[in-house]
Amino acid sequence: MQILHPFSGSLQQYEEAMADPDRYRPDHCPQCDAQHPLSAHGFYRRTFVEVGFDGVIRVRRYLCRCRQRTVSLLPQFALPYLRFGVAVIARFLIARLLQGRTLVAAALAAAQPRMPYQRGQFWVRRFRRQAEALCAALVALAAPPPALHFVGRALLLLQSLDWIAAHRFLFSQLRMHLLGWPAFLAPHGLRATLSSTGPLKKSQTHNTCLVPPPRPT
Ligand SMILES: [Zn+2]
Repeated sequence: MQILHPFSGSLQQYEEAMADPDRYRPDHCPQCDAQHPLSAHGFYRRTFVEVGFDGVIRVRRYLCRCRQRTVSLLPQFALPYLRFGVAVIARFLIARLLQGRTLVAAALAAAQPRMPYQRGQFWVRRFRRQAEALCAALVALAAPPPALHFVGRALLLLQSLDWIAAHRFLFSQLRMHLLGWPAFLAPHGLRATLSSTGPLKKSQTHNTCLVPPPRPT
């Protein structure tokens, strides 16, 4: 299972902070609610692209001894199962969908000048599919701005709320992925819920344990 770590410093500060397993150790298991601290369980490495960074980061893992299941502490600037961070994708989508720039210009705005255009199209497709559900979920945090369509409304909401704060809320509270879960990962019970507009029921969140993380795409 992945949970988000509300880390907001630089990548270097993140690496330093992660070196100490006690610093951000969850005090209870989010999967079985066992009231004992989780055991440090090393790291997994994942590729990550951010504005000014293209490399590998370490993600701290913990183990629940009760059920022998791992909990990964994903930094909040990263998205589950995506190599590109929230800031890059946000810049691209704003430029492409809100400002109407070309795919090439949007990639430049996201500081990804050599990015293949298909990647941008992939983000746009996923965001379009997800926009209505995002609007429905984010009204819990802010009044929806006037916009002609769900895509514009979702983008304006994300801009006003701050993308990372919104991602943290969506993932931590609703187990929603900012761009929607890819079909191959949608856990039992989650896909149908995301296509509707209501938040997850408590009982449905138990089916969202996603281990182990595959390579981000
Ligand atoms: Zn547990």
